[in-house]
Amino acid sequence: MAKTKPMTVRQFFQMFPTDDDCLDHLMRTRFGDRHVCEKCGKSAHYYRIKARKAYQCEYCANHLYPCVGTPFEKSRTPLQYWYFAMYLFCASRNGVAAKELQRQLGVTYKCAWRMGHEIRKYMGKVDGDAPLGGFGIVEADETFIGGYDERGHDDKVIVLGAIERGGEVQTEVVKNRRAGTLIPELKQMLVPGARVVTDDFVSYHDLPGEGFPHATVNHSAGEYVRGPVHTNNIEAFWSVLKRGINGTYIHVSEKHLPKYLSEFEFRFNLRKSPHALFDALILAFPRGHQAP
Ligand SMILES: [Zn+2]
Repeated sequence: MAKTKPMTVRQFFQMFPTDDDCLDHLMRTRFGDRHVCEKCGKSAHYYRIKARKAYQCEYCANHLYPCVGTPFEKSRTPLQYWYFAMYLFCASRNGVAAKELQRQLGVTYKCAWRMGHEIRKYMGKVDGDAPLGGFGIVEADETFIGGYDERGHDDKVIVLGAIERGGEVQTEVVKNRRAGTLIPELKQMLVPGARVVTDDFVSYHDLPGEGFPHATVNHSAGEYVRGPVHTNNIEAFWSVLKRGINGTYIHVSEKHLPKYLSEFEFRFNLRKSPHALFDALILAFPRGHQAP
């Protein structure tokens, strides 16, 4: 499989033709080909026990259930459906609406909605949130997500974002756009002394005083690029995010917005190795506790 492109649907079904293939992949990805047995302590190969979603130690027959701790553990939805849903989340650019999952999998809307939320939750856990700006220039900006609720009340949410050029993105929902809010939030995202580019919004003027070399591009005067001084990367991220949220998800409540932000961060941060998205997501599941 080409390593620089996401898996195609055809490749997906070649790799995961049945629930058993998915279970084998889950076992291998989470526990490796060999695994130190919790009971006998030996580095053991585990054999599939056909009648159960379990594997057993080649030495002491200790059972291991690879679904434990994952969203699949208590789900009656077939494992291949979960895998296909995860595949869609990894392969899409703008996200996957619950309606779309419902249609593709033939499950109920409620089930599709819950699957989407579970997958998004673990996408957020992959994200290490390592501070930005150790190497490249960081572009920071804030944007408004949402619009008006059913009663016509303004329910826009402000999101602060920062991207290290050639590196990762981080986003955070913020209460307002005052310097006293934006600067401390931004500092949490940056390594000390990171070089930062923003637009000329006044709240960012304190950055040099906080130890961050700061350049601004004067959007209010119609200036967008002055050599390396621009915010094109963070703006491109906002446009993908907005296309996803407005186009695919229609309405996202403030309560759920952080999970959607994580989903778009996850895809952006692994954009250079799309083949790794799938395994990274699976590795984010906690191991849980095997029954004694
Ligand atoms: Zn054993």
